[in-house]
Amino acid sequence: MSEIRTRIAPSPTGDPHVGTAYIALFNRCFAHHHGGKFILRIEDTDQVRSTDQSEKDILEALGWLGLSWDEGPGIGGEYGPYKQSERGEIYDQHIKQLLDTGSAFPCFCTSHRLDDLRKQQMSDKAAVGYDGHCLQLGPEAVAARVAAGEEHVIRMKIPKEGECTFDDMLRGPVSISWSQVDMQVLIKSDGKPTYHFANVVDDHLMRISHVIRGEEWINSAPKHILLYQYFGWDVPVLCHMPLLRNPDKSKLSKRKNPTSIGYYQAMGYLPEAMLNYLGMMGWTMPTGEEMFNLQEMTHSFDINRVSLGGPIFDIQKLDWLNGKYIRESLDDQQFAKLFAEWAFSADKIQRIVPLLKQRVERFCDVAELGSFFISANPTLSIELFEHKVLTIEAQIKILQFSLWHLEALEVWNREFIESSLQGLAGQLDLKIRDFLSPLFLAISGKAVSTSVIESIDILKLDITRARLRAAIDVLGGISKKMAKNLEREYRSLD
Ligand code: GLU
Repeated sequence: MSEIRTRIAPSPTGDPHVGTAYIALFNRCFAHHHGGKFILRIEDTDQVRSTDQSEKDILEALGWLGLSWDEGPGIGGEYGPYKQSERGEIYDQHIKQLLDTGSAFPCFCTSHRLDDLRKQQMSDKAAVGYDGHCLQLGPEAVAARVAAGEEHVIRMKIPKEGECTFDDMLRGPVSISWSQVDMQVLIKSDGKPTYHFANVVDDHLMRISHVIRGEEWINSAPKHILLYQYFGWDVPVLCHMPLLRNPDKSKLSKRKNPTSIGYYQAMGYLPEAMLNYLGMMGWTMPTGEEMFNLQEMTHSFDINRVSLGGPIFDIQKLDWLNGKYIRESLDDQQFAKLFAEWAFSADKIQRIVPLLKQRVERFCDVAELGSFFISANPTLSIELFEHKVLTIEAQIKILQFSLWHLEALEVWNREFIESSLQGLAGQLDLKIRDFLSPLFLAISGKAVSTSVIESIDILKLDITRARLRAAIDVLGGISKKMAKNLEREYRSLD
């Protein structure tokens, strides 16, 4: 058998997600168990949403968890570059091949036409998708329009009838009817590839033998398989892992649970415990042992032990496991060292000290004032939020709108946070002092504390989000109806 090669292919469009780490872990265990290689590839084809910061955070998060890669950014390898934005020429050559063989075609349809088509299909209760309009164009007409520089995308041809059947390593045969598969855009009008095209070309060129990815990609498998066939390439083994779920069984999302690895790092979880917990998602050691490390999991790894029922990412269970790690795997010296590094890292302390120094008279005042920088969410009660001007509802609105504003920030620093929140206070027609009051409480648990803007800056978005959410819950939460109204009002802010 040729070498086993697996990969994790994150898109750097947001915080490093626990789901990415989970899929990376299983790919790495599978490859290494079989003496193969685990590759990291950055899928930054979405130039608008991809950011350098997100890429850096993802690499750091995987590194923190110990999920090192054998080829990829930072270390290179035989099949690089490992970042799609640096592989433009490769995609250009490959799309040419599909155009020449007639497996792909230029499509000149305007977004206006596509919108109308979609609306019509929806009102006819028909399958929504491209209708093949531009397939009817003759080769001369196509050549002339392309030569004239007319804007177009390139789509792949899809069979009209029949179904695509493939063998999923975990699920066995899966059949999807071609009528459910759209004529996927492969190259966008700016000449850049879409995920589907770049992913297939790269998996092939990087000699990926097993594509192990989240179940949300299962419906894309037919398109991918067809692309391999158009190129005349072998299709890698496909394996779709069950998605992580919230305790209520819904798909794990940051709306319900913190999903960023950075959050767990900032909250003082041990990377070994976190990794162990991810290994328990749908998988068990043959011995039934609950505590295991990466090496042990790799050694005993058997993909057939993955159970398909949606694994629940339950923070209470993670807390329990983390506590067990703290008690059983750290001696007192290690605990002291790791705790000090976590709580009093030079970087954090340098930023907190100027805030505290202005407000204390004795060192013994520091803990009271600054404990919220290293504590869990502050203990809050609704009484704390009684305010002479603001109703509880108004404060929920401030907290939610602030969160949305902060989530939309492109740069995370004091100036951006300040101008964003000041802008919001202005839009809501509130005095900044009143506006900041619920934020002070949510962040520090106190009505008056160190500068809330600077504190948010230091605590970063993950922790801030968790605290604003917790405060909203204490204030009674946001019902579905309320959420709709808030969203509408938020959108209409000028
Ligand atoms: N870039 C895709 C993602 O972010 C990769 C999916 C795949 O593994 O094919 O999820």
